[in-house]
Amino acid sequence: MEKKKYDVIVVGMGPSSAFFAYECVKLNSKKKILMIDQGKRVEDRNCPIEKTGKCIKCKPFCNITNGFSGAGAFSDGKLSLYNEEDEDFYVGGNLHKYVGVEKTKRLIDYTDQVYLDFGADKHLEGIEYKEEVDKLKKKAKKQGIELISIPIRHLGTEKAHSLYKKIEEYIEKAGIEMLFSTMVTDVIIENGKVKGVKVKDSKFVEDEEAEVQEIYADEVVIAVGRKGANWLSDLCKDHDIKTRPGIVDIGIRYELPDKVMEKVNKYMYEGKFIGRPYPFKDKVRTFCQNPSGFVSSEVYDHDMALVNGHSYKEKKSTNTNLAILVSHHFTVPFHNPILYGRNVAKNLNELGDGNVVVQRLGDIFRGKRTWQDELDNNSVVPTLKSAVPGDITFAIGYRTMSDIINFICEMDKVVEGFASPDNLLYGPEIKFYSNELVLDENFESSVKGLYAMGDGCGMTRGLMMASASGVQMARILNK
Ligand SMILES: Cc1cc2nc3c(=O)[nH]c(=O)nc-3n(C[C@H](O)[C@H](O)[C@H](O)COP(=O)(O)OP(=O)(O)OC[C@H]3O[C@@H](n4cnc5c(N)ncnc54)[C@H](O)[C@@H]3O)c2cc1C
Repeated sequence: MEKKKYDVIVVGMGPSSAFFAYECVKLNSKKKILMIDQGKRVEDRNCPIEKTGKCIKCKPFCNITNGFSGAGAFSDGKLSLYNEEDEDFYVGGNLHKYVGVEKTKRLIDYTDQVYLDFGADKHLEGIEYKEEVDKLKKKAKKQGIELISIPIRHLGTEKAHSLYKKIEEYIEKAGIEMLFSTMVTDVIIENGKVKGVKVKDSKFVEDEEAEVQEIYADEVVIAVGRKGANWLSDLCKDHDIKTRPGIVDIGIRYELPDKVMEKVNKYMYEGKFIGRPYPFKDKVRTFCQNPSGFVSSEVYDHDMALVNGHSYKEKKSTNTNLAILVSHHFTVPFHNPILYGRNVAKNLNELGDGNVVVQRLGDIFRGKRTWQDELDNNSVVPTLKSAVPGDITFAIGYRTMSDIINFICEMDKVVEGFASPDNLLYGPEIKFYSNELVLDENFESSVKGLYAMGDGCGMTRGLMMASASGVQMARILNK
C-alpha cells in the first residue's frame, strides 16, 4: 500500500488550526498540509438539545466541542482584545509568555482584522464607559476584588457558526486537505523525531480492535483544545514528552437576572472580577459572562456532562450567566489535575443522573438541596432546561465550594443582588488543560518536529489567543 505523506499534519481543527491554515494560504505556503478532526464539518454540526430539550449525548462525539472550529462554533464568540497601555495580558492565556507582550498585541491586531474581514461585528464592547468602569473598579478594590476590563468584540453564537463556515470554505478552496470524523489515536515518534500519526474512523472510538492507519509527515502540530487535554496528557506520558504540572479550573456556572448585572453588562459586556477570598485565598475569577444569555451543557469523553454558557446576537433571555472558577494546582504526592477534575465531574454527574445539576444559592445557605417544585416557582427561571435540581455541595470539595460562596458574598457588595437567594448555581463547570507542554519559542516540544498550539497544551484559554497562536505557528513553519 502506498504510504500517505505530508509536510505538516495538524491534529484538531479548532480556531487555532483554522487560523493556522488561513495564514498558510496567505503566506503562499508550498507545504502539503493535512488537517484531521474527530468531529464533523462546521455545517454538519448541530446540537439537538433545542429540539429534544435535553442533552442526548451525541455519538461518537459531542457536536458542541468537536469538528471544524472546535469549541468556537457554538461559543458565545466573545473575542477578547487588550488595552494598549497594559504591560501584561490578564485574559485569554499565555501566548505572550512564548512570543512577548508586544508581539502578542500585534498578532491579536492581525487576527482581529481577519475576523472582521470574515464578517465580525465592527462594534467593540467595553470602551465607551471609562469613567463608570473606573468607579466600579474602585468599589471592587475596597472588597479586595480586582476588575479587569478589556475591549470585546462579540460575534454571537449564530454568527460564530457562519463566520467559521466561511473560513472553512476559504481554506478548502485554497487546497488545504481536511479529514473529518477521524480520530488521531497516537503520534509516531522514532529516535526523538516525529514521523506521523495513527488514525482511525471516529465511529470506532471505543473499539480497541478497529483498524488503525498510519499517515506520515515531517511536522505534526497538536491543537486538540481542552477536549483533547486528557488525550494529550496520556500521549505525553506514553512518549515521555516533556511537560510541567498544569492546573484545573473547577467551579460553577452562575445565572442571575440581567437587572442585577445591568451596569456591568452595559459598561463592559463582560467584567472579569478576580478575588482571593478567605480562608484559602485561592484565586477565584468570573469568566465567560453572557448578558441575556443561555446556559448550555456539553459532553466530554466517557459521557462527562459539563456546563457552559453562551449568548446569541438576536435571541435573548432575561438572565445573565457567567462562570465562577477556582484554579487548583497540585504538587506532591498527587499531581494529576485532570483526574481530580474528572472525579468531581463524575460524582456530580452521578447525582444528576448523568446531567448537569442546578441549585438555588438560598438553598446552599440553608444547607439543603433544591427540589423541582422550588425551581418551578423560582424567580430566576433556569435557561438550561435539562439541568436536574439537586445539591452540588455533595460533589464539589469544601475548599472550592467555600471559595465560590465567599466570593459571591464579597461580590454582593460590589454588585447589589449578586448573592440573592434565587440566583442559580449549575455544576460542574470545569476547564481542563493538559499538563502544560514544555515548548520553545517556536512552539516545538521536546520531540523534534512535534509542535503544539491553542488551548490543549496550556498555551491559550480563549478564541482570540487560540486563533492568534495559529497565525504565529504558520509563520514559524513557513519561515
Ligand atoms: C460553549 C462554549 C462557549 C465559549 N465561549 C467563548 C467565548 O465567548 N470567548 C472565548 O474567548 N472563548 C470561548 N470559549 C472557548 C473557546 O472556544 C476555546 O478557547 C477555543 O475554541 C480553543 O481553540 P483550540 O483551537 O485550541 O481548540 P478547540 O476549539 O477545543 O478545538 C480542538 C479540536 O480538536 C479536535 N480533537 C481533539 N482531540 C482529537 C483527536 N485525538 N483527534 C482528532 N481531533 C481531535 C476536537 O474535535 C476539536 O474540534 C467557549 C467554549 C465553549 C465550549
